Amino acid sequence: MKVSKKILIVGAGLTGITLTERLASSGNNVLVIEKRNHIGGNCYDFKNKAGILIHKYGPHIFHTNYKEVWDYLSQFADWIPYRHKVLGFFDGEYAPIPFNLNTLRKLLPKQAKDLEKKLVEKFGFNKKVPILELKKTKDKDLKFLAGFIYKKVFLSYTEKQWGLKPEAIDPSVTARVPVVVSQDDRYFQDKYQGIPKNSYTKMFERMLNNKNIKVRLDTDFKDIKEKVKYDLMFYTGPIDEFFNYKFGKLDYRYLKINFKTLNQESYQLAPVVNYPSLKYPFTRITEFKKLTQQNHKKTTIGIEYPGEKGFIAWPVLDEKNKRIFKKYWIEAEKLKKQNIYFVGRLAEYKYYNMDEAVKNSLDLFNKILL
Ligand code: UDP
Repeated sequence: MKVSKKILIVGAGLTGITLTERLASSGNNVLVIEKRNHIGGNCYDFKNKAGILIHKYGPHIFHTNYKEVWDYLSQFADWIPYRHKVLGFFDGEYAPIPFNLNTLRKLLPKQAKDLEKKLVEKFGFNKKVPILELKKTKDKDLKFLAGFIYKKVFLSYTEKQWGLKPEAIDPSVTARVPVVVSQDDRYFQDKYQGIPKNSYTKMFERMLNNKNIKVRLDTDFKDIKEKVKYDLMFYTGPIDEFFNYKFGKLDYRYLKINFKTLNQESYQLAPVVNYPSLKYPFTRITEFKKLTQQNHKKTTIGIEYPGEKGFIAWPVLDEKNKRIFKKYWIEAEKLKKQNIYFVGRLAEYKYYNMDEAVKNSLDLFNKILL
């Protein structure tokens, strides 16, 4: 008979909760500790005073091409079918983001036909081209277009989001929002896309609903690490903090969201509107009821101010931080021998999407096979 193990999970975000669910379902005793006063990490959502469901840490739209991840989460949630669309606000005009052929026709109506032809010839219809790739093209018209998109969509937005130029961060970051050579206005093209019908938080509660699981909120790892006995630990917090910053602090980009509930049914044309221009100190505004098709007389918006204040939202993937992280990761790998695993966005210092966090947890579970 399989002996049940005592497992400590540090952090009740998507990664920690997925591991917890898997480990508890296979008969282990799992203690989850969480520093915040709620589960769900940055995916946490709740009904505000007005009764509108909002995402406390900014808009979270679940999207994936991994069928196993979709099937796994679907055990715990029904989905609102949803296709995320984002508009950009450009000098008084709204046009789709990612920049696609519709954006081109809207912002450069005179040149659109010729540029469209060149784009299709060079890259092929329906292709996605990262802006930093488009900038390398030799053709003078495409060079002009690349410069236009770079300036209008990426330069100032990236400056506001990261405090850096697009070239200074890992190319995978701006490639998340490529130039799309089609009229497909969707923000994500993944096969599966949706938002849990009864909230992310309810989905997480269902995942944690097992007698083998104990959750302790408001609990800092630092305060309990000497007291808790475990056979195995999964740490999902910031890796530099775990090692007492011995190789220096890793940079994180923080986010402050200013929530406002307005006495009007609708605020903007899309669930999310990006403001790439430096004229606005914020990056984007989310109107939450439009994400989840809520009917309400009022509406709540969240205005995002990335910077040095607020909650940790993103790792800063530049050369300096990647170098520091490598040093921590070597230490982390050594701890596997002591049954300590580092996993998730903060512990692996990665810009994971939600589905990747779940996939990694499922893969790790299967690898360790408890
Ligand atoms: N980006 C941009 N302009 C936009 C949208 C995105 O320059 O209107 C860049 C920016 O550098 C950002 C990256 O693309 O950090 C990834 O954007 P995404 O929407 O994926 O960021 P997230 O949803 O994680 O905030």
